[in-house]
Amino acid sequence: ASRFESVTMAPPDPILGVSEAFRADTHESKLNLGVGAYRTEELQPYVLDVVKKAENLMVERGENKEYLPIEGLAAFNKVTAELLFGADNPVIKQQRVATVQGLSGTGSLRLAAALIERYFPGAKVLISSPTWGNHKNIFNDSRVPWSEYRYYDPKTVGLDFEGMIADIKAAPEGSFVLLHGCAHNPTGIDPTPEQWEKIANVIQAKSHIPFFDVAYQGFASGSLDTDAASVRLFTARGMELLVAQSYSKNLGLYAERIGAINVVCSSADAAARVKSQLKRLARPMYSNPPIHGARIVANVVGDPALFNEWKAEMEMMAGRIKNVRQKLYDSLSAKDKSGKDWSFILKQIGMFSFTGLNIDQSANMTSKWHVYMTKDGRISLAGLSLAKCDYLADAIVDSFH
Ligand code: PLP
Repeated sequence: ASRFESVTMAPPDPILGVSEAFRADTHESKLNLGVGAYRTEELQPYVLDVVKKAENLMVERGENKEYLPIEGLAAFNKVTAELLFGADNPVIKQQRVATVQGLSGTGSLRLAAALIERYFPGAKVLISSPTWGNHKNIFNDSRVPWSEYRYYDPKTVGLDFEGMIADIKAAPEGSFVLLHGCAHNPTGIDPTPEQWEKIANVIQAKSHIPFFDVAYQGFASGSLDTDAASVRLFTARGMELLVAQSYSKNLGLYAERIGAINVVCSSADAAARVKSQLKRLARPMYSNPPIHGARIVANVVGDPALFNEWKAEMEMMAGRIKNVRQKLYDSLSAKDKSGKDWSFILKQIGMFSFTGLNIDQSANMTSKWHVYMTKDGRISLAGLSLAKCDYLADAIVDSFH
């Protein structure tokens, strides 16, 4: 008998498992709207031109593969904090940000969770209901207690703002409040600037600590600054806060695992101590981070010509997704004779749309129409083309009724 007899089979991951099922399907109309990865209009993966240029630069320079320091590539850590907060932000000038390179968004969240577990024993993290599927796993495995705050209102397919505020108010003082900086995943529903102000008011009044997950900076609106507005609004109030960053989507560096954790502290001294502890947590977990993606980001942002090209490519990607969103709305409005108002689709932002399809309806999408998506009714518009919008609209209308 195996010594591993007691090890049971783990269930497939709810998001990555969708891709596995998609690969096994041989139907010609099959569509993978499960995973959040950008595709071209031909539904092919896309490597940004600026990424290829930045990689060529590395080859030309003959860069080596020596270990990075535990905190990552210094040039990357500098530009990633500047992109997020703005280079002129007082928190940067006053050296009040502890920035450590992480294994993309997930690894950076994981490192922050380890910091919370070690230095804030018993503190709870409040997460939105619903949220990105991996958030709960990350806090569970880090032994950080969490609870949910209301976010999505199925009646309006919009934000339950009153519920959100009430739940943040009701949480024990000094809780961490996980917020999606922009393009909330899975709903695509973001607070308005006025609502962000009110959220900041309650968080401040309750001495909570904001914890931003920024996985889509520049990818939601097409502008790096617009998408960082929520984080900067909180920062401008002088609050201490955490921000996990990812370059998976906005630079298409999914498999390079490049991101960062930033902790804004009230003094440079506190930031130095926090950074030292983040390094201490990282060392036994993975020792030090990978260099390739860090160099790409540093090269792109550090070169004015490449930086401008990146912004143009980001606008192009965000623009393609917006066009698909509009076309899907048009197709649904034309095909659905029930009088249902589909305008919620146009109000959502980012690569996802929350359709409002329930579990059974989502299952029908897959079994009958070969459309692969997560069970919560989320579809990735980044995996959709203009040409496939009519087919998808047929599938959605059929599954709803
Ligand atoms: N956070 C959110 C909200 C996400 O949607 C994602 C990716 O889908 C991530 C974090 C992390 O992705 P990665 O680890 O590839 O950077």
